[in-house]
Amino acid sequence: QFIAFEGGEGAGKSTQTRLLAQALRARGIEVVTTREPGGTPGAEAIRSLLLDGVEGDEAGWGPRAEALLFAAARADHVDRLIRPALARGAWVICDRFLDSSRAYQGGGSGLSDGDILTLHRIGSEGLMPDRTLLITVAPEEAMRRLAQRDVDGSDRIGGRDPAFHARVNATFATFAEEEASRFARIDGNGTPEAIHQRVLDALASLLGE
Ligand code: C5P
Repeated sequence: QFIAFEGGEGAGKSTQTRLLAQALRARGIEVVTTREPGGTPGAEAIRSLLLDGVEGDEAGWGPRAEALLFAAARADHVDRLIRPALARGAWVICDRFLDSSRAYQGGGSGLSDGDILTLHRIGSEGLMPDRTLLITVAPEEAMRRLAQRDVDGSDRIGGRDPAFHARVNATFATFAEEEASRFARIDGNGTPEAIHQRVLDALASLLGE
């Protein structure tokens, strides 16, 4: 099974990826955890181009170049890590996937959803998660968690205002509503353990529980 966690920064995706992997392994399931952008050496190299920028280029990537870089990173990640793992029967848990591109490069930066899906079809042959877990928290709570996590914001793409993040969250919410059979919405407030229990509840049918 292919499971993706989605949500804004500070939603708790990385923690929940780790807790879910532990829970699945305890059930005897082979699990591969990974993240986007990244997951393979090539895709991690693209991640640092995206997150650290390029020396001497203060302006940073434009929205179309950024979308292409995310799609290229995903293509490498899908071909070389995700599909082979799924083919041998492992569960893959990915911290962000296509819906982040639809929310950030689409909802946030204004590219059309159709174009982003076309890039995904070309790059990754349209691979979709079996289940996408959208973790939602209030913006103030996300800010608080980010302030605890990184002081300098070096693991984030900068130069985005609160309105950008509001569009991202609204776009995620729209997809979750429109594609209700693939998405599960997870309340991201509370302790990591409480949120983990909600994740397990959302996956109960896949787990045969
Ligand atoms: O998941 P994580 O928070 O580590 O993502 C790193 C950065 O990449 C964040 O700033 C996130 O907003 C950004 N990102 C993006 N578009 C994507 C995926 C991640 O802008 N499709």
